[in-house]
Amino acid sequence: MENAKCLSPDAYFGEYVFNEAVMKSRLSKTAFKVLKATIHAGVPLDSSVADEVASVMKEWALEKGATHFTHWFQPMTNITAEKHDAFISPTADGKVILEFSGKELIKGEPDASSFPSGGLRETAAARGYTAWDCTSPAFVKESTLYIPTAFFSYTGEILDKKAPLLRSVEALNREALRVLRALGNCTSEKVTATVGPEQEYFLINRELYEKRLDLMLTGRTLFGARPPKGQELEDQYFGRLRLKISAFMRELDTELWKLGITAKTKHNEVAPAQHELAIIFDPANIAADHNLLVMEMMKRVAKKHGLVALLHEKPFSGVNGSGKHINWSMATDDGINLLDPGPEPSENMTFLVFLAAVIKAVDKYAELLRLSVASTGNDHRLGANEAPPAIVSIFVGEELQAIIDSIVSGKPYAGPGRVKTNLGVATLPIITEDSTDRNRTSPFAFTGNKFEFRMCGSSNNIAEPCFTLNTIVAMVLSEIAGELEKASDKKAEAKRLVKELITSHQRVIFNGNNYTQEWVEEAARRGLPNISNTVLAIKELLTEKSREVFTRMKVLNEKEIESRYEILLENYAKTINIEAMTFIDMANRQLLPAALGYAARLADIAEKTGSAAAESRLARVTALADEMGEKLCELERAVAACEHKNAYSTALYYRENVVKAMEALRAAVDAVEPLVPADMWPVPVYSDLLFRV
Ligand code: ADP
Ligand code: MG
Repeated sequence: MENAKCLSPDAYFGEYVFNEAVMKSRLSKTAFKVLKATIHAGVPLDSSVADEVASVMKEWALEKGATHFTHWFQPMTNITAEKHDAFISPTADGKVILEFSGKELIKGEPDASSFPSGGLRETAAARGYTAWDCTSPAFVKESTLYIPTAFFSYTGEILDKKAPLLRSVEALNREALRVLRALGNCTSEKVTATVGPEQEYFLINRELYEKRLDLMLTGRTLFGARPPKGQELEDQYFGRLRLKISAFMRELDTELWKLGITAKTKHNEVAPAQHELAIIFDPANIAADHNLLVMEMMKRVAKKHGLVALLHEKPFSGVNGSGKHINWSMATDDGINLLDPGPEPSENMTFLVFLAAVIKAVDKYAELLRLSVASTGNDHRLGANEAPPAIVSIFVGEELQAIIDSIVSGKPYAGPGRVKTNLGVATLPIITEDSTDRNRTSPFAFTGNKFEFRMCGSSNNIAEPCFTLNTIVAMVLSEIAGELEKASDKKAEAKRLVKELITSHQRVIFNGNNYTQEWVEEAARRGLPNISNTVLAIKELLTEKSREVFTRMKVLNEKEIESRYEILLENYAKTINIEAMTFIDMANRQLLPAALGYAARLADIAEKTGSAAAESRLARVTALADEMGEKLCELERAVAACEHKNAYSTALYYRENVVKAMEALRAAVDAVEPLVPADMWPVPVYSDLLFRV
């Protein structure tokens, strides 16, 4: 692949992926048929073909330079895990052969004791297993064959983020098909959730990054005064790509294309040093795996270019943080996008039923959507007027709103009458206006033929929001299917249901500016939940409503729900604890000494020269350093005073005490920083990090 740059991407796209074309050309007809039935029709995998698939996969991987294989899985952290095994097995004559059996392909057993299990197993009973997910293609990367897998415990409970996604994909397929059949569709055989994530990230200089322990250990700056220039001119947004950035992006695109990932759009984002990458949508499960690879590749390629890709939701305060827009829809195997309104949306009963199902699901289970994107990082964004508020609502736009109004009021719908825009320049094309403008402030926006869920954080594994969305929509579809199946006049019943669902859930629809205080008040009047932080969001997992939807749709069982609850709370407290300990370390060893060192220097100057400027600055710096010292002690005390009663009380304690103490210390540090000479401040400041890329 040395010449990749000169080759056109179609020549190497997917070159390192064990995709269907490879399977077809290398497997026996029978094995290919069996495997395809599992991948597409959800038929249980017939393990009799596993040996053949494994052997073919190994041969192919060896040709791509692989020496090892790994079961790649997604434990309850936000990153992936892998344990590499070489293909080699010793032979009697002291040599080795390269082996890979069907058993090794299908099942793995990493030592699971160090992965979060939320009480599902004790450390002594550490057994955890990985099971091959053949619906997401295997691939070769860094001389290793990567096999996507689900991760579960000895007792059979799942311990990861992929398994619930796979279960939710099945649930959505099952319930959506029931609805389609009841509506008279006999041709579609499968419904897939389609997902296209847009990933935001920051790129900063690696040398500077390595000078900041907070960035290295927590992914964000725990302090840093505002630079003279921020994002106020918005001159970064869609700006020209600088050469260094552009070289990084080119290599990233190439690496992703080789892995069959359709990196499509890249541009500069609003904040300095912030960028975005969108890939073309895939089935949800593949999209989630691909997004994990995108994040990993970003980091890897950045390193080669002397850069660091920051995926944290809020690396810098004072400028925008990073999110991930999840474009989501449902498509049939025969090419129908179920959220495509078509030319006559008001007459398109399939569209209206699925739309109504999404509206009800989002309204009824808003707390679970909020939970699916909850993280310590996202707590800095949601509701901070740079991202949607923590209140879940739906934007539908003018045209759909008019249709919804006519459904609710029973009055006829007068079509939109699309307007053509004449730009008044003969050489510019005449453009048909879109049916609606965009609304950038909405957490859940209809964008023509899909929804865009905008609350997700940039570091989030999208499996969580995707499985939540799939599950809640599947649940509502199953209720709709139940009604339709009973009715003798299906059309009339569908019409009645659409009206009923939209009427009773229209409170969740809001087309205005979600960033305003008026909306927060209006939402409260409408009774929409406003869950302000992660700890409160996690509590929602144990409600009756949440247990019902996850267990009824067979996405999580009771034990799995409880273990996730524990894990999420533990992760929260641990993350904040690491931030606090990092801050304490830096304040003790770098920041306070710097402030005191400057004070000593000023005292010296004042004594030697009698300068009034030195005297007054000394007084200021001393006072600010004292303040810093005091806040530092308070943070140390807050961390030490935590009593661990249970996971919830600990997380709540961190939220209410430690986070606050960190904010206070930050304010003190940020007040000193602008006064201390550049050569005495021990770490790079915001203008270095944001503008010296
Ligand atoms: P926009 O300009 O509204 O952001 P784009 O066409 O650029 O829309 O698409 C943004 C993302 O939405 C891309 O990842 C794209 O692949 C994805 N997308 C488009 N159609 C669908 C769909 N039917 N289901 C899921 N994602 C989709
Ligand atoms: Mg978009």
